[in-house]
Amino acid sequence: MSLEKLYQKIILDYASDKANKREIPDATAVERGHNSSCGDDITIVLKVKDNVIDDISFLGNGCAISTASTNMMIELTRGKSMEEAKVIVKTFFDMMAGKDVSEEELERLGDAQILEFVSTMPARIKCATLSWHSLKVLIVDH
Ligand code: ZN
Repeated sequence: MSLEKLYQKIILDYASDKANKREIPDATAVERGHNSSCGDDITIVLKVKDNVIDDISFLGNGCAISTASTNMMIELTRGKSMEEAKVIVKTFFDMMAGKDVSEEELERLGDAQILEFVSTMPARIKCATLSWHSLKVLIVDH
């Protein structure tokens, strides 16, 4: 299996995971992200308690890359403090921008590391970063 095929399989696995697509009844903040070039429309729902991401989910629909990226982000940041989440989001954007990111920092991104290969496809970068922009806004507003 080529690396690209493997990446595609991982992305499709994450994209088909529906566990994080749900309402959070006592959510503390929401941020909608819309990518008009692809049609992705994903809202990030957040519940922050004692400065920790107590729960995070999404609503809406997007393509395989945006949905997979959203699920990866949700699984990486749930249970993390806002400070930790901020570092993860920054590392992700650094990676997507092609900046130097150390192996140790990349490790923090878990499976989201594979989205780096999307950064070579300009038309799909917006798909991969959509929900991360939303979370960044939520962290800054917090
Ligand atoms: Zn898309």
